[in-house]
Amino acid sequence: MSFREVIGHDIPVEILQSALHQRHLGISYLFYGPHGIGKSFVAKQFAKSLNCEAQDTDCCDKCSSCRRINALQYPDLHWIDIQDDSENIKIEQIRTIQEAISLRPFEGKAKVFIINNCQSLTEEAANCLLKVVEEPPLDSVIMLIAASVRLVLPTIASRCQKIRFSNLRRQQADELLQKNYNVDASESRYLAYYLDGRVGDALSLRQAEFFPQKESVLNACIHDMGAAKFESICKDKPQAQQAISVLMSWFRDVLFAKLAMPDDSLINYDRAREVSIDAKKYSYVYVLSALDTLTRSFEYLKSNANIRLVLDNINVSLTWKS
Ligand SMILES: [Zn+2]
Repeated sequence: MSFREVIGHDIPVEILQSALHQRHLGISYLFYGPHGIGKSFVAKQFAKSLNCEAQDTDCCDKCSSCRRINALQYPDLHWIDIQDDSENIKIEQIRTIQEAISLRPFEGKAKVFIINNCQSLTEEAANCLLKVVEEPPLDSVIMLIAASVRLVLPTIASRCQKIRFSNLRRQQADELLQKNYNVDASESRYLAYYLDGRVGDALSLRQAEFFPQKESVLNACIHDMGAAKFESICKDKPQAQQAISVLMSWFRDVLFAKLAMPDDSLINYDRAREVSIDAKKYSYVYVLSALDTLTRSFEYLKSNANIRLVLDNINVSLTWKS
């Protein structure tokens, strides 16, 4: 896809397109913002635009450079991320950048170094990276990607041009999921609203067979199957967290319906009729209490509480319909 066709992220794209027009190299960027909203996607579009064989300020997606950058198999693109066997980016990985940055590009117009999850550098790796970003050569661009500026060593952040990324609007995420990833309209609508525009997370959930579990949870919640059925859906911690999150979205919608918000503001738009039935059935006190219980349960699971105790607490607090 063309850099101009990136959906959302208007300000970051404008800044980067301006840098392309001015051929502004020898610079380090820090892309920051919530997880799963498209920072690394934009970084890749920028890397292609810097090296496209057909265009100077955009990418064609068809030339050999664009295709190989899409596949992360281009000699002048160095993509560093947390490796499968680790929780951090290690100093050895940053040293490969140190070595490559002093060499001339193999074949491209610019060397591009992208470090994803920059909040997860070891201390040694961060100190090594500091030397790299101090003065990148004029044929290079470095892009650091992190969830927040505060999670990056201040001495590194201060040497970068910082570009803030925000969640896409839900309608933009819905459009993007359908247009670029061929996601079915009802699934994309749900994911865009459920994840508040986080397209990367939407794609991960879709791959993880999310929808069958979501339907089971909502059926257990709505169609009087009660505690036993709910517990049978939550076989492990990730499933329990997902189930609790789905229920939170349900009670959030019930609250919205009680407040007479329009149906198109609902996450569970496809079940608007059932949401409105629950809105009539439950009191404000019950809905707010359910949301409170579910929010706390989610936090308990994050801090490694026992799943059985957490589910028991939900079952006691939420008087399932009979
Ligand atoms: Zn190209």
